[in-house]
Amino acid sequence: MTQRRPTVGGNWKMNLHGAEAEALAQAVARDVAGAKTQVTVFPAFPYLERVGKALAGKPVNLGAQDFYIQPNGAFTGEVSLSMLKEVGVKTVLVGHSERRHVIGESDILINQKVLAALEAGMEVVLCVGEKIEQRERGQTDNINSAQVAYGLAGVKPEQMSRVTIAYEPVWAIGTGKNATPQDAQLAHRRIREILIHGMYGAEIGNAVRIQYGGSVKADNAKELFAQPDVDGGLIGGASLKAADFAAIVRAAEARA
Ligand code: PEP
Repeated sequence: MTQRRPTVGGNWKMNLHGAEAEALAQAVARDVAGAKTQVTVFPAFPYLERVGKALAGKPVNLGAQDFYIQPNGAFTGEVSLSMLKEVGVKTVLVGHSERRHVIGESDILINQKVLAALEAGMEVVLCVGEKIEQRERGQTDNINSAQVAYGLAGVKPEQMSRVTIAYEPVWAIGTGKNATPQDAQLAHRRIREILIHGMYGAEIGNAVRIQYGGSVKADNAKELFAQPDVDGGLIGGASLKAADFAAIVRAAEARA
């Protein structure tokens, strides 16, 4: 069986001002020291540089929650990949449900973002997942397959080592309702099958990490991460408290 390094991300969203973000970054770096799991935090834009400095030399990656696809120019309010690189960002989120469903990003833009970020040498976390009404209609696998296929269109096999998929059922994000470990495993397995049989073959498909996201907490992480195709988690609310986040990273260590 392919050994995949577990990966846990803390998506801080539009939370925490500068001093709080810096203090949390320091606490996370202290608490996860020595972990084999890849740990990434995604602070809000204004504090990326400050958090990056707090993490310098520490085993925690700096991630950004968003960016724009163009290198520069008249794109009011947007931030380029080279700006993010300059402040130490290594990983970017793409296709998060809040960007798809609140901000209204399309599959086309999401795909352009994936391609631009990989071209710029970044690691990409591509988020996919169904809404509650789609789940109730039995469309979970179709939605996931379509979002994976659209999102990765044009991604070269040699770039796939820098791609992680985050399966995040929309109905589970920030709601306290998480997928059961069995449901998560089923969805992750189907996503992996798309990668293996429909897109990249067994070697790459088995090596891609698939994180689960959606109300992961210290007390449910262990069971979720024990599933064979659940390679860690993307954590929102519970990433804002160092002790909770550290407990989630410890739950992922069992796979490391
Ligand atoms: C997320 O935003 O990616 C997320 C999974 O949030 P939460 O953990 O709060 O459900």
